[in-house]
Amino acid sequence: MESFLEELAGYILGILIASVSLFFYLRGKRKKSRSNIEKIEKAKEMGIYEPVSLHPVVNESICIGSAACVMACPEKDIIAIVHGKASAVNTSRCVGHGACFHACPVQAISLYIGTEKRGVELPHMSEEFETNVPGLYIAGELGGMGLIKNAVEQGKQAVEYFMKKYPGKNKAQCDLLIIGAGPAGIAASLKAKEKGLSFITLEQDTLGGTVYSFPRQKLVMTNPMDLPLHGKVKLYETSKDELITLWKEVLEKNQITVNELEKVESVERKPDHFEIKSSKATYTSRGIIMAIGRRGTPRKIGCAGEVSPKVYYRLLEPELIKNQKILVVGGGDSAIENAMMLADEGNEVHLSYRSEAFSRLKPKNSEKINQYIAARKIIPLFSTTVTEITEKKVTLKGTDNPELITEIENDLVYVYIGGELPTQFLEKAGIHITKRFGEPILFHKEK
Ligand SMILES: Cc1cc2nc3c(=O)[nH]c(=O)nc-3n(C[C@H](O)[C@H](O)[C@H](O)COP(=O)(O)OP(=O)(O)OC[C@H]3O[C@@H](n4cnc5c(N)ncnc54)[C@H](O)[C@@H]3O)c2cc1C
Repeated sequence: MESFLEELAGYILGILIASVSLFFYLRGKRKKSRSNIEKIEKAKEMGIYEPVSLHPVVNESICIGSAACVMACPEKDIIAIVHGKASAVNTSRCVGHGACFHACPVQAISLYIGTEKRGVELPHMSEEFETNVPGLYIAGELGGMGLIKNAVEQGKQAVEYFMKKYPGKNKAQCDLLIIGAGPAGIAASLKAKEKGLSFITLEQDTLGGTVYSFPRQKLVMTNPMDLPLHGKVKLYETSKDELITLWKEVLEKNQITVNELEKVESVERKPDHFEIKSSKATYTSRGIIMAIGRRGTPRKIGCAGEVSPKVYYRLLEPELIKNQKILVVGGGDSAIENAMMLADEGNEVHLSYRSEAFSRLKPKNSEKINQYIAARKIIPLFSTTVTEITEKKVTLKGTDNPELITEIENDLVYVYIGGELPTQFLEKAGIHITKRFGEPILFHKEK
């Protein structure tokens, strides 16, 4: 009898412990779910919920809430569990790793481009990356697929398709003109060299493309990339410096020069060749690989003195900039994030924004910038426009009241006022563009 009672007490205790654990587990899950709903609401409020490019879409009728996608995402906080199902939280930050797609045990995730509300403009191209302009090929993120390894793959393939369709030579200066030296343009240049083509690679900025201007060091590559004239690169987690150094070494070893700081301004199809006008020269080529990415060209203020070595459009190493008088121009997330980084290094930072208040900021930035302003770490100059930049000063006028002139001492200017999208450039070259409103790019065929 005694042993029966002991056994019964054991069972009851076991059940009690299990119930309490279950209670706390469910409470934790509910709490997490609530916080994820709040994140979604906040993202909607701040206008950053609608994805700008590739993003995951969850089929809720299939999802079992395993959270494998949440754990697999290298970017974090893009997808979360809400009421037991995966849900998009902050898809505007998705760069298209596709890790969620591969991790889902029940194939409930697809990767889409554009949404019903927000279309994404994509150039027309065939499966072989040729646009409607014969001989003009597109490679890399410009075509809609993000990621370094995809850009590298497409850069190589575009060159191969060009060679197959347009063999031989003509009077043009070179076989291929490659526009852009991000991962796609670099891979295209290496492939062209490997195949013995003559080519010129032009880059408006610095070799490395978007990777060079990442605000962070860490890079994730979910698959190895295969570089022509080098072989497989198995860097799953790397730094941008490591990757750019590798690209530079491979290009140098193969005597490939990239013409940096040379922007292509127009591309014209002539009867049997292309005429390309850049900021420095005019070229002719048999074919074109356009690998210009989707980030466009930074917009300029257009004020007197803007063309000056003290004016920058991106911040690469904030830790090296100290004790400077800096003006940051812009009121979006990039401007605010960079202004805060510069303030953290002990610089005197003014922030000029043409509107009277910030809008559409990420919630965290919105909160943080107010703290920096309250602590006088950043001095805001709302409703102002820069009119002149000189060696030691910047002059601003009131946006609504041009009589209101402010002059501040200044060593450096950082400008973040958006950019010209590549769409206009493509249209000028005769490439057809369509807006995609939510089309699956990566999906499970059997569905
Ligand atoms: C914040 C962030 C984080 C990311 N993290 C990762 C990651 O961890 N792993 C990953 O795989 N991918 C990541 N990506 C995506 C990856 O960077 C891009 O998919 C990739 O760089 C695209 O390569 P691309 O060569 O097509 O274009 P880009 O890298 O954008 O290069 C295009 C180049 O063309 C140049 N160009 C543009 N117009 C002209 C012109 N008219 N004349 C001359 N040159 C021109 C540009 O200056 C640029 O150098 C990230 C992206 C961002 C924004």
